[in-house]
Amino acid sequence: MFNFIIFGPPGSGKGTQSIKIAEKYNLAHISTGDIFRKNIREKTELGHKVKSIIESGELVPDELLIDILEDAMNQHANVKGFVFDGFPRTCRQASDFDDLLNKRNEKVSLVLALDVDDNEIIGRLLKRAEMEGRPDDTKEVIENRLSVYNKQTQPLIKFYTKQNKFTSVSGIGSVEDIFNSICAVIDSL
Ligand code: ADP
Repeated sequence: MFNFIIFGPPGSGKGTQSIKIAEKYNLAHISTGDIFRKNIREKTELGHKVKSIIESGELVPDELLIDILEDAMNQHANVKGFVFDGFPRTCRQASDFDDLLNKRNEKVSLVLALDVDDNEIIGRLLKRAEMEGRPDDTKEVIENRLSVYNKQTQPLIKFYTKQNKFTSVSGIGSVEDIFNSICAVIDSL
């Protein structure tokens, strides 16, 4: 199984690249953000629980994540692996995830970050706000999401570097160029 984590700040292009990677390498794409947005749209109990948290740019509590992940993985039997997009986002999630994968006799194969600086991120997210109108893409919420990322998610770089699984490519450039750099890393494994 190829268990690939795509990593990086909000707006770094994880979603766009994940879809392309999943298609090329025949992997299932699991985006926790998409799962939450679907639950909010469908007004499920989970959607109700997370709506205001997401709209404020904070993280959904760790306790909720691992079951959601396990569930999502179980919905794809017989795949060659996964692209995890937006998960894990905290150290607790990363260590719960290692336990979950262990239990399934699997492991994280690679964590690849898209490197994009804060100014570029803010510009991109404000533009996305105009186009898609996501309620968590207002200026205040964007700033909060970045600070949450820096405080709670950035430390995972150390976690996965220690496991010798972390690498990064530049997230600036055309979608195709970035995709090609990611493929070059995967193909070199
Ligand atoms: P982006 O990374 O572009 O900001 P996502 O679609 O990945 O957007 O996530 C949107 C929101 O969903 C996050 O700001 C957070 O509130 C929530 N969320 C998604 N994944 C997680 C996670 N692994 N842990 C906690 N909250 C999450």
